[in-house]
Amino acid sequence: MAEEAELYPKKILEYMEGFLVSKTLFSACELGVFELLQSACLSAGQVSAALSTSVDGTERLLSACVGLQLLNTHTHTDGTGTVLYSNTEMSNVFLVKSSPKSLYHSIEYSSRTIYLCWHYLSDAVRDGKNQYEKAFGVNSKDLFEALYRSDDEMVKFMHLMNSVWNICGRDVITAFDLTPYKTICDLGGCSGALAKQCVSAYPESSVTIFDLPRVVQNSQKHFMMDQDPRIAFCEGDFFKDELPQADLYILARILHDWTDQRSVELLTKIYQSCRPGGALLLAEALLHEDDSGPLTVQLYSLNMLVQTEGRERKASEYTRLLNAAGFTHVHTHTTGKIYDAVLAIK
Ligand code: SAM
Repeated sequence: MAEEAELYPKKILEYMEGFLVSKTLFSACELGVFELLQSACLSAGQVSAALSTSVDGTERLLSACVGLQLLNTHTHTDGTGTVLYSNTEMSNVFLVKSSPKSLYHSIEYSSRTIYLCWHYLSDAVRDGKNQYEKAFGVNSKDLFEALYRSDDEMVKFMHLMNSVWNICGRDVITAFDLTPYKTICDLGGCSGALAKQCVSAYPESSVTIFDLPRVVQNSQKHFMMDQDPRIAFCEGDFFKDELPQADLYILARILHDWTDQRSVELLTKIYQSCRPGGALLLAEALLHEDDSGPLTVQLYSLNMLVQTEGRERKASEYTRLLNAAGFTHVHTHTTGKIYDAVLAIK
């Protein structure tokens, strides 16, 4: 009996059906379930009427969300036995669009873009390259031209980048004491979410967000509602243009987009712009040295394969790239959350 129980393929079944969970979450978000149940306690019939969805489909979706602990159930007090649904606290914090810690846009991007790329994972492993051509019919010779194939796609990508730093940005920014660095340049700083974390953790600092011109324009338009005089922008291409002067450079989730060769090219440019005593902070998800995990980062590395030219790396691999660019003093700090920190001092 014991042997049979051990042979039950529980994990394999979970893995096989994992996408059913993802798709349930995606659909509930996309249809607006969590917006609706944010402050109301409604029956499946009321939800289906408000969302213009079928009653039967809605009942099943709500029931699955209860199973996933994304919704609570209550019985109507009118004695009819009608089941009412409301958001769990976790859904209110992370799934409602307007919440400061909302993951709504990450979920939307996962559903509309990443999920489609992952359909071609086997092809990506076979070819050893991203699958934009198959997934979206766009040439991926220039990675960010493909990623930013329309303004709408660019803003969606920026939302994806933005949301995670509201959850774990502070851990990365405070992994090392960055107080000595007053002027900071966040290369590929995108929506500015990490820049905001910087000036909040180090009120004396000022941050220049350096990114491609269209990204800077969209960042100013969509993500910088409350102007902070400590945050400025600089439009440019970090492979081609001169970098702004700074005490500290940040590369957050940049090197994982690129090959070792392109990474060393960029790191060398930063090393040359950096003054002695200045530093570079990398924010990346680190793989364990013995290849044992973390599973999330191993999966992210596959995601980098289907979506970019890069990979996730171990601390020793980042150290090797930094050494090749000239940085000799390298310190790493794992945060226990998604992203870790590597500080290289010149
Ligand atoms: N650092 C941000 C974060 O962690 O949220 C964004 C990371 S995103 C994966 C990569 C960023 O690099 C994007 O904002 C992109 O526009 C920017 N980028 C890509 N190529 C660039 C280039 N050649 N010059 C400047 N920025 C570039």
